[in-house]
Amino acid sequence: MPVMDNNEQNFQRLRLQRFYMAQINYLISHSIVAVAWFADQFHGSGQMALLIILAGSCTQALFWWSMRSGYNLRFADPSMTSAQIVVALLLASWLLLYLGDFRGTVLLLYPVILLFGVFQLNRRQFITHAILALLCFSAVVLHDLFRRPENINPTLSILQLFVLCCVLGWLSIFGSYIRELRERLQRRHSTLQAHQETLKGMMSQLQTLATSDSLTGLSNRRHFMDVASRRLALLGPGEKLGLALIDLDHFKRINDLYGHAAGDTVLQTFARIARKRLRDEDLIARFGGEEFILLLGNASIDSLTQCIERLRQAFAECHFDSMPEGTRCSFSAGLTLLNPGDPLEARINEADQALYQAKDNGRNCLQIHPQAV
Ligand code: GH3
Ligand code: MG
Ligand code: MG
Repeated sequence: MPVMDNNEQNFQRLRLQRFYMAQINYLISHSIVAVAWFADQFHGSGQMALLIILAGSCTQALFWWSMRSGYNLRFADPSMTSAQIVVALLLASWLLLYLGDFRGTVLLLYPVILLFGVFQLNRRQFITHAILALLCFSAVVLHDLFRRPENINPTLSILQLFVLCCVLGWLSIFGSYIRELRERLQRRHSTLQAHQETLKGMMSQLQTLATSDSLTGLSNRRHFMDVASRRLALLGPGEKLGLALIDLDHFKRINDLYGHAAGDTVLQTFARIARKRLRDEDLIARFGGEEFILLLGNASIDSLTQCIERLRQAFAECHFDSMPEGTRCSFSAGLTLLNPGDPLEARINEADQALYQAKDNGRNCLQIHPQAV
């Protein structure tokens, strides 16, 4: 069995469903043979009746095997609509050959068979199959005229041919109309899907815009507050979160000496270093201007201090092309811890106080708030 993706498997399932629906038609045909036989309306031998039923069953078994094994996927139309219709038309005509007066009623089989192609065949194909149906029935009538003229009423046969012609003509128009409607619906569905995709893309862009800082790509203050509040609320007994407020030292001087663009590069460099050194469960955000805020998952004061210290050293070692060789940047940080039930704003204020203390202590250093010690 060929390897099929999910889409192809779904189509294959639909094709089989259609095939099973078509089997109802065969059940009807076989019942007609049986009824005609018992009502003495079947003019062939018993073996011939069985042969018709056998031929129907064998061809259907072949179609079924082809769909189950995936053999049908080799064809241009894997639903084998045309082949199924042609086989059904030939079998129906073979059956009609042995029905006498009963034949007029059973003519109904032709339009029923053609209905099978309503969703698959285009107008030209539909008309071709309708013509084939007419040719098949004409062959049946001609066969009777030449082989057993005493048994048939030519006027009645020609009338039947005429009625069949009208019905199949109407069905061709109706069938292609339904197909057109279906295509229009499909087109509308595709357009809707495309709009939905665009909307999804825009929503995700909006989400990014609403939660991140455009210069550094880090989370923005609002997003940080949302996430920190949520994580604080979910904190289990005994668990702690680390909180650090980081402020770049003498940043105004960098702007003044080397330009705003150089200042921007310093901010971006800090963001890149922080992102690289933090774990997925940690959150770093731009709190405003040249201030950043860090939330460290499952932290102690030691792990928080080590983390910020590593960050401080890495940042202090950075070179900047936009500034003279040897120019170094630094930051100061205020640290504290968050315990379950703590008010977030109050703890951020404490980290801010510790940060002021670090600035007072000469900058390029960390200060832990006494509450966290
Ligand atoms: P301190 O060591 O005391 O923190 O001094 P500082 O110069 O870093 O602090 P100050 O608050 O005096 O200056 C912060 C400067 O950061 C002022 C502002 O122009 C600059 N700044 C804020 N946002 C941006 C930004 O997005 N890009 C750039 N290039 N500069 C910014
Ligand atoms: Mg500042
Ligand atoms: Mg500063």
